[in-house]
Amino acid sequence: MSNSDLIDLRSDTVTRPSAGMRRAMYEADVGDDVFGDDPTVNRLQAVLAERLGYEAGLFMPSGTQSNLVALMTHCQRGDEYIVGQDAHTYRYEAGGAAVLGSIQPQPLDNAADGTIPLERIAAAIKPDDPHFARTRLLALENTIGGKVLPLDYCAQATALAHARGLGTHLDGARYFNAAVALGGDERRVAAGFDSVSICLSKGLGAPAGTVLLGAKEFIAAARRPRKMLGGAMRQAGILAAAGLYALEHNVARLAEDHANAQRLADGLRAIDALKVEGPYTNMLFVTVPADCAGLGAFLRGRGILTLARSPTLRLVTHLDVDAGGIDRAIAAFGAFFAGWARHG
Ligand SMILES: *Cc1c(COP(=O)(O)O)cnc(C)c1O
Repeated sequence: MSNSDLIDLRSDTVTRPSAGMRRAMYEADVGDDVFGDDPTVNRLQAVLAERLGYEAGLFMPSGTQSNLVALMTHCQRGDEYIVGQDAHTYRYEAGGAAVLGSIQPQPLDNAADGTIPLERIAAAIKPDDPHFARTRLLALENTIGGKVLPLDYCAQATALAHARGLGTHLDGARYFNAAVALGGDERRVAAGFDSVSICLSKGLGAPAGTVLLGAKEFIAAARRPRKMLGGAMRQAGILAAAGLYALEHNVARLAEDHANAQRLADGLRAIDALKVEGPYTNMLFVTVPADCAGLGAFLRGRGILTLARSPTLRLVTHLDVDAGGIDRAIAAFGAFFAGWARHG
């Protein structure tokens, strides 16, 4: 079975560049981006900054690096940032802020809706006292676990941070999923954030690349940690061209991924043995019975790939899975669970 026959629901990072995207990459005008000479990188940075209302942008290979560059630009050695326990920058980036940035994380529990309660944020901001690290930054994530943060919450949280002298960063790896889910006003999701990191390689379908957005001075300063972390590339316009193509062609269509996630959730809810949570934008979470170890292999045999994080499967829709693929996935789950009892 070739890759393109698979229904790969492990993540929205698995998408492969389309023929049109590859053509844009092939034809990209390039230069040395360390000298600031790559016209396609420069265009991508300018286009996205303008689109979301920032002064400048900086292109990097990955979202992990873009977040770390942002943290290292907002914070100095010995500073602290406030972050959710479930946030990617805290949990899934190998502790880079602490290891490479000498930045102390102050993790706080996320509420069920993905927010960090305002009173917990306020209480975690340290006074100016030599006992404490200097609290410098609040970092939020939108979407988080597929959930869209309420915009009035973001407004309140960023206002609180700014009133207490903190900067604000948004991990917007799936920024446009949030924007599309909220009806398409793209700038509103970034409102209140001094910097935002946008992945082009998730649902937008580019093979690699993330853009960090912020004020001119912030982005100028961010060039040093980008260089330090090895993220300053040369003829990176090949990749930036894919990002520009994605921004032009693959944003509005995220609504299809959300509809497919709903279709998948509805189909799986009809299977008694499964407990389905969501969908949240393009993700849903499925709790399977304890004694079905063969499920992953069974699905794989039918061309369906899932990522088990026992006891929950996370299923993610994206531009390489259409409604027909969703129906195939539902049918495969149905075949495995035919005759199973209702979920307890
Ligand atoms: C994927 C992801 C990142 C990191 O992006 P990579 O390009 O995989 O390094 C950061 N934040 C969130 C929320 C993500 O989902």
